[in-house]
Amino acid sequence: MSTESFVEPSPTPLALLLLGRGADPESERGVECPGDLPAASDPDLVARAQAAKAALGDRVFVLGHHYQRDEVIAFADVTGDSFKLARDAAARPEAEFIVFAGVHFMAESADILTGPGQAVLLPDLAAGCSMADMAAISQVEDAWDVLADAGITDVTIPITYMNSTAAIKAFTGRNRGAVCTSSNAKPALEWAFEQGEKVFFLPDQHLGRNTAVLELGLSLEDCVVYDPFRPQGGLSVEQLRAAKVILWKGHCSVHGRFTASAVADVRERVPGVNVLVHPECQHEVVLAADYVGSTEFIIKTLDAAPAGSAWAIGTELNLVKRLALAHPDKQVVFLEKTVCFCATMNRIDLPHLVWMLENLVAGTVVNRIEVDHDVAHWARIALDRMLALPGVGAAPKD
Ligand code: SF4
Repeated sequence: MSTESFVEPSPTPLALLLLGRGADPESERGVECPGDLPAASDPDLVARAQAAKAALGDRVFVLGHHYQRDEVIAFADVTGDSFKLARDAAARPEAEFIVFAGVHFMAESADILTGPGQAVLLPDLAAGCSMADMAAISQVEDAWDVLADAGITDVTIPITYMNSTAAIKAFTGRNRGAVCTSSNAKPALEWAFEQGEKVFFLPDQHLGRNTAVLELGLSLEDCVVYDPFRPQGGLSVEQLRAAKVILWKGHCSVHGRFTASAVADVRERVPGVNVLVHPECQHEVVLAADYVGSTEFIIKTLDAAPAGSAWAIGTELNLVKRLALAHPDKQVVFLEKTVCFCATMNRIDLPHLVWMLENLVAGTVVNRIEVDHDVAHWARIALDRMLALPGVGAAPKD
């Protein structure tokens, strides 16, 4: 790797402090993490984590999301995207404790998919997801009422991205819809258009728009954006009736930051560069890029790329850093010049992991994520509809 191929920016401590504060158990916003955390400066943290994990043995299974910090990934039994990790946990029924190094909606999905004898734990309850936070269940139910008043709920199928709360997944399941991931959004939308005439896509407007326009051949005019903070979503009855896709006004605060000008800039800085971005990026960024796909697609594309090739990656910075290190024969650069960590994902750090593992060794189960039975039932139905999509059940990805 060339020395100029990767420059690690400084983290943004202010954003880390601001995000996740406050107590709002009805949403993805975090609550206080109880107990005394080890100091981040403790030189024995690695040894303490190793000792606690060894003491727990097969009773604990640690899941590490691709966007996690290196210090946490080092203790993961398996890494992957959120849906793969949830399924990995379900495939380890002997593991009594599933420690999810990810964010809250991921732990909810793992709880839904794992057995009753398994406890899913989140090392820091403040590790939420800004995208999932943008669709509160009360807002979505209000929006459904607006669609009902417009007379279109009978022909509208909700599709929710995996990155949503269990309550939104349950709403989707109750209303004949399905969950999707970033790699199966196309078959999910195709399925929805076989069931009805319109799609209500939650909560990521960019994934919905990119899939509808670039993969299904719909036009931008076929899509409208429902803003939950405006009366009737900011849309007229005529607009709702004319739309084919009603996009919820949500986005990922990480992928939404990439810009088309950053694509133009990197093409100037790195001649011959291939621009590879995640479909949570804005439509104009995806249009300007060379390739678009899920985190698993990004990893596989880098694996298959020839030595000497150059890549600008538009996804979370922890993953891009590891890709750069894993491919010293290729030039791997981060698409933006500014920091683009997932601040809430980064709340899971080694002190929290040590705190959790040592509590488990002492017999105290902390930060358990449990989804209400009825919510889990309907969310599972929406997840199962995704698994029944053609070609999806074998290897769904987020
Ligand atoms: S990267 Fe975006 S979608 Fe993923 S957890 Fe962070 S805020 Fe949520």
